[in-house]
Amino acid sequence: MKRILLVAAAAFTLTSALAEYPDKPVTIVVPFSAGGPTDKVARDLAEALRKPLGGTLVIENVGGAGGTLGAAKVAKAAPDGYTLLLHHIGMATSPSLYRNLQYKTLDDFEYLGMINEVPMTLIGKPTLPANNYAELMKWIDANKGKINLANAGLGAASHLCGLLFQSALKVEMTTVPYKGTAPAMTDLIGGQVDLMCDQTTNTSTQIEGGKVKAYAVTTPKRLTTPVLAKLPTLQESGMKDFNVSIWHGLYAPKGTPKAVIDKLNAALKVALKDAEFVKREEALGAVIVSDGRVNPAEHKKWVESEIAKWSPVIKAAGQYAD
Ligand code: ASP
Repeated sequence: MKRILLVAAAAFTLTSALAEYPDKPVTIVVPFSAGGPTDKVARDLAEALRKPLGGTLVIENVGGAGGTLGAAKVAKAAPDGYTLLLHHIGMATSPSLYRNLQYKTLDDFEYLGMINEVPMTLIGKPTLPANNYAELMKWIDANKGKINLANAGLGAASHLCGLLFQSALKVEMTTVPYKGTAPAMTDLIGGQVDLMCDQTTNTSTQIEGGKVKAYAVTTPKRLTTPVLAKLPTLQESGMKDFNVSIWHGLYAPKGTPKAVIDKLNAALKVALKDAEFVKREEALGAVIVSDGRVNPAEHKKWVESEIAKWSPVIKAAGQYAD
């Protein structure tokens, strides 16, 4: 009898916890600066999640060390559904780049699902004399040893793209790390740095406004949005295997109750079909993933495959941090 009562009490606590969740704002930690591409996805998604989740969401920017500081913060947060992480491909590249990562990518998180895939663009400061990819190659040749390349730190998407670009060209550039590509973009526009590779969600508006020079896209196929369609791919420009498309996913600390994970996953599925959200993302070149990929097990498998894919590439480039 006592046992039945205990089981009933436990079931009641779980159901009532779920019925109440969320009863205070949910924080989404963005591991990069405000105003950058990851931040933009998070803010738009927070808006789209409000209704299906039935509560408000707030964004906390914890930039630095290529996104690993923000990820570490969430890995150590209370597993109650009130602290989430929105991260990108850095989830999969940082295990190969950091010798002393402060969390275990596959063990310390509950995976909620994938959000989108986003191509990247190679851009330059507005005063750079090169006006197209061929001219850029000549400029790089003439300026070897003097070129700066901005990124959001080791493990960031901009770092990965810049790393592959340098090894394809066999040219070393001085990398300048920022807490995100929002401040990096400000410096690029101001001419303090020469080049950057960043998501179309951050570069489209600046390319359209003529604030930066644009040279190529990183995907094997040209893009279709009006601003980006005119850009060649790096592959057609001669970098045979160049193929970088980044993605975003949503995570909770390990141990978050299954009922909360299920509720978050269901809300995420609805949010990713929100017409306003989809329109904003697509206009900037991002592609929302299909329902099947907005799935905890599928997304974890995807991250595992991405770790396996990028690990040899990163090791071959010989870059590490502590
Ligand atoms: N785009 C950045 C990166 O290089 C991150 C950001 O600022 O959102 O990964």
